[in-house]
Amino acid sequence: MCATLRQKGITDERVLAALSEVPRHLFIGAALESRAYEDVALKIDCEQTISHPSTVAMQSQLLNADRGMRVLEIGTGSGYQTAVLCQMGLKVFTIERQKALYQKTSKLLKELGYRAQCFCGDGFHGLPGDYHRIIVTCGAPEIPEALMRQLLPEGVMVIPLGEEQQEMLRITKHGEKREDWEIERFGMFKFVPMLDGKTTH
Ligand code: SAH
Repeated sequence: MCATLRQKGITDERVLAALSEVPRHLFIGAALESRAYEDVALKIDCEQTISHPSTVAMQSQLLNADRGMRVLEIGTGSGYQTAVLCQMGLKVFTIERQKALYQKTSKLLKELGYRAQCFCGDGFHGLPGDYHRIIVTCGAPEIPEALMRQLLPEGVMVIPLGEEQQEMLRITKHGEKREDWEIERFGMFKFVPMLDGKTTH
């Protein structure tokens, strides 16, 4: 899988090492397990998807995080991205709005020894605390203000922005005001939508 990832522009050795360590097949239902190491997104519970490994690698690389940093992930889903971030030595906080996924995935991560702190709720409002890095793994209709407030000075947020398709943005927070946010763009992707905590799909 690493050769494919390198071809797709993943050069960060910390990310490549983490993806080769984390057993992706354990985050996928038995029916699709045989496809776990192909570069495809696959269906998980609650009509959600586990992202392409190349997308997980790309978002992890864009975070440019150092060991020990506090990282907030919005959209735990299967827990695969969470596990990759833990494997990179980050202190991970992750939030999922679907209760069933939260319950299943937080148990799985614990069983596999990944020490992420899992929460159930609406990640559009973030999670009280402050973070060096924030990664959003669902398509956001707008840049969530609450998340930008929870980002530490010079912190970085990686977020797919848009409704039908999303543009991958990396936002570096040089100051509190919008004009102090540096925005870099990294191409188009397709994610499941970011929904509020109450919507039932
Ligand atoms: N990182 C995941 C990607 C899962 S898909 C993985 O590697 O498997 C995105 C997830 O975001 C879905 O599980 C969806 O339920 C969740 N999600 C959507 N809107 C959300 C919100 N407002 N708060 C928290 N989670 C949300």
